[in-house]
Amino acid sequence: MARTAVRSPARRAAAEGPPVQRSYEFVEGWGMAVGAPSRVLRPRSIDELVRCFEIARRDGVSLGPRGTGNSYGDASVNRAGHVLELSRMNRILAWNPENGIAEVEPGVTVEQLWKRILPDGWWPRVVSGTMFPTLGGALAANIHGKNNFKVGTIGDATLEFDLVLPSGEVRTCSRDRDSDLFHAAIGGFGLLGVFSRIVLATKRVHSGDLRVRGISTRDLGEMMSAFEAGRGRADYLVGWIDCFPGGDASGRGLVHLGEHLEPGEDPHPERTLTALHQELPAKVLGVFPKSEVWRILRLFNNDAGMRLINAAKYMGGRVEGMGEPHLQSHAAFAFLLDYVPNWKWAYGREPVRRGLIQYQPFVPSAAAHAVFQDLLARCRRAGHVPYLGVFKRHRPDPFWLTHAVDGWSFAMDFKVSPERRAGLWKLCAEMSEVVLAAGGRFYFAKDLVLTARDARRFFPPEKLAAFERLKRELDPEGLLQTDLWRRAFRAP
Ligand SMILES: Cc1cc2nc3c(=O)[nH]c(=O)nc-3n(C[C@H](O)[C@H](O)[C@H](O)COP(=O)(O)OP(=O)(O)OC[C@H]3O[C@@H](n4cnc5c(N)ncnc54)[C@H](O)[C@@H]3O)c2cc1C
Repeated sequence: MARTAVRSPARRAAAEGPPVQRSYEFVEGWGMAVGAPSRVLRPRSIDELVRCFEIARRDGVSLGPRGTGNSYGDASVNRAGHVLELSRMNRILAWNPENGIAEVEPGVTVEQLWKRILPDGWWPRVVSGTMFPTLGGALAANIHGKNNFKVGTIGDATLEFDLVLPSGEVRTCSRDRDSDLFHAAIGGFGLLGVFSRIVLATKRVHSGDLRVRGISTRDLGEMMSAFEAGRGRADYLVGWIDCFPGGDASGRGLVHLGEHLEPGEDPHPERTLTALHQELPAKVLGVFPKSEVWRILRLFNNDAGMRLINAAKYMGGRVEGMGEPHLQSHAAFAFLLDYVPNWKWAYGREPVRRGLIQYQPFVPSAAAHAVFQDLLARCRRAGHVPYLGVFKRHRPDPFWLTHAVDGWSFAMDFKVSPERRAGLWKLCAEMSEVVLAAGGRFYFAKDLVLTARDARRFFPPEKLAAFERLKRELDPEGLLQTDLWRRAFRAP
């Protein structure tokens, strides 16, 4: 939506300081199935950030915040205006190895953070399945990790932040100070203001390795039982699901249970706590340069190929499940998907026409088994079987627009192509009905298919109304907008 240009002399002057780095680019969601050309502004300081608001006002357009664009869908795409990319505000402002508290600019990535703190014996409390997101983007989405059931989201690990409002005012928020804004902006997808400073608590670790146990599971029920059995002692739990087989094998897969080592268990922490030890190998299976592996995966990126790969992984999991637990570095365990650079290109490299979407419903415990079995059966019937399925256990958190429930999530990767798109969106709409009827929720970092009507059904009405009130109060001109905002909040 174009905005009316404001041309007051003061605003024009503010927009005309030293140049903010800007370029005209095609800006896409990580899954490549959505994108648009935009002017991208890259501030390096708070002054420049405030100037970006003025530039958008002067140009009569909206401004969509963006980190490194790791949201699968349209959360950081803004086809109707400029994009405000925070990746250049990337200084670690302070790090205290005594108490594990880090103070960072919003463009610091998860990778930068762990590389800085690990040698001192600390690890981020919450990380995503890739290390490339910025902490500003991670906080705006309120990301969760494989330990969500135990430690909550990144918002739970956040002590304080500064938020730059469209007016240029900078608000410092914590649980005790401006607490409403603290709980609304975390998980608020950049719609209320822009994080410019974040203070995070991290976690003490006594080794650069985790003890990892593989548990092969013959169906979804067994997987859920394995999670529940391991929940008391595990630090991390994640399940991989082979979505192809039906019948008794529906939901079969492999659970990975990760545990931190106790002090003294690792004979050489000085070696394992280095970035070098965490480095992912340069070659896959010792042969293929990992930068080229997506080309091989591409050959298998069809139903027959993916059925084969998933079956092979399941058989490998059965063997792994019979073995002893093994040691794995934090990075290899947490960021397995980064092992193969640009693996998404296996889905095709034609912006907007080809790529992938991830569909990740969160369902309360009591209904989860039945709902997920129903979704899997619908996928198979519709001929859209997810090529990757990932299962996690969650817990509720206090953030206003949270996706988390006391229950489970099932993230499904679907291939998008011009031929499949309409059928896939129809399937997702049907699945959303099932999830919403069961009291489930969704996560905008992984979404491209929900409607505003769906969103109104899963957010608590009082929280959504309060969020919309804050939006009107803090951003009366509607300067902060993204494609996600227009699709999932504004559309009729
Ligand atoms: C392979 C892969 C695995 C993933 N695994 C997980 C996972 O395990 N758990 C999980 O929770 N997520 C996961 N994600 C999603 C990812 O962590 C989130 O989408 C995260 O928000 C990406 O951060 P980003 O810097 O790329 O932000 P972007 O995608 O660029 O932006 C995300 C949102 O944050 C807003 N934003 C960005 N910077 C700021 C700022 N400084 N101030 C205010 N708003 C801002 C944007 O407007 C947008 O709404 C995964 C993504 C990928 C690609």
